[in-house]
Parts: sequence; structure tokens; C-alpha cells
Amino acid sequence: MFFIGKKTVFCVLAATLVMALAALGVFAVVNTVAGSYTPLGAVVVIDAGHGGYDGGVVGVSGTKESELTLEISLELGEILTARGVKVVYTRTEDVALGDTKREDMKARADIIKESRPDCVVSIHLNSYPRDKSRRGVQVFYDDTGKGETFACYMQERLNAAVNYKYSKRTDLEPQKGDFYITKCYSAPSLIIECGFVSNSEDESLLKTKSFRRELSREIADAIIDAVV
Ligand SMILES: [Zn+2]
Repeated sequence: MFFIGKKTVFCVLAATLVMALAALGVFAVVNTVAGSYTPLGAVVVIDAGHGGYDGGVVGVSGTKESELTLEISLELGEILTARGVKVVYTRTEDVALGDTKREDMKARADIIKESRPDCVVSIHLNSYPRDKSRRGVQVFYDDTGKGETFACYMQERLNAAVNYKYSKRTDLEPQKGDFYITKCYSAPSLIIECGFVSNSEDESLLKTKSFRRELSREIADAIIDAVV
């Protein structure tokens, strides 16, 4: 038994609503925010976090966040492309997009704005060395509330398919915050922290292609059901 907060109830209701609309073939809920509904030509920006001199967090066995975010992003992009979605990557190699972190983030924002996407997914990995038992995939969205419905739906699906399967957790909730990458364009924008590299089990999973593919498939399904 676990405590179900107001936000959980909201998320469950939101996820149910999105699934009901999906069943009816009505996908305009999230796209009303994007303002550019393109049923056959949706554009998704996939942002592989970090890269180049910025390796991001380092896992318990030394894995660099930037390497795994790129692998997951390319896998996700391949799946979406095969399903007819136009994918724009912020990077496809182990490079930074600017000489400073500020320039790097601005270059990512410029790509997002120029692409006029229906949604943005920024891939990252979590780390919490103070409590190495923490596990799971968690979704973040903008503190203005933009993308909340999409975030709830994505988190519900990831809880049901990935978090329950690998760590028996179904109670992870999407979190909102002040993130540059989720603010730079009007479309629903999520940061997906794909697991905790400070946890050896999560890190081991993330290092396997089969897990990355399974995770990418779930993220792609949620994008297609909720946004495309
Ligand atoms: Zn990161």
C-alpha cells in the first residue's frame, strides 16, 4: 500500500483521458499546445543530453552519461523514423554544440525552434550517489505546466512497462521544474531521465542494447499515441 497524492490522481485521470482520446482517434489534446497539428508529418526533436567535453554524470562503473544518451536517442529516432515521424536530432555524434555550456544549450534551442516540432524529448540519465538504491525512469516537464498531460502519460506508460518490470516501482511521478530546454519552444517538451547510473543494476541495464531498445520502443509508442 502506498500513499496516492493529488498529483497521482491527476496523472491517472490524465492518462486515462489521453488513452480514451487515443482510442477514439482524437489526438488534439497535446497538439493544441503545439499549435501545428500534422497528423501525417509530425516532427519530433530528440535531444541527446551532453556530449563532447561535457560527459554529464558518471556511472558506478565509469559509464559516461553522454555516451548512453546518444545511444538511446539514436535508437528512439530509428524507431520513430520507421513509423513515419520526421526526427530531428540535436546531435548524432559525441560532440558538444558550442565552446561553452551556454553556447551548447543555445545551439540546441536554435535547432528546436527552427524545426518547429510537435514535441521535444531530451534524453538524460540520473545520478544520486547519496542513495544508490534509487532506480527508475523519470519524466520532467516545464514548471509553466506546458507538457503536463504528455508528461503524465509518458510516466504512466514507463511505470507500467519499464519501472515495474525492472524495479517493481509504479509510483514514480513526473516532476516539473525550470529547465532551459523545455522552455525554449511552445511544443510539449519533456526531459526523460532514463535511469540512475549511481545504481549498479540500472547502469548495467542501460549498458545493454536490448534494454535501450525496449525503453526506446515505449517512449516512441507514448509519443505516437499522445502527440503524433
Ligand atoms: Zn544530463
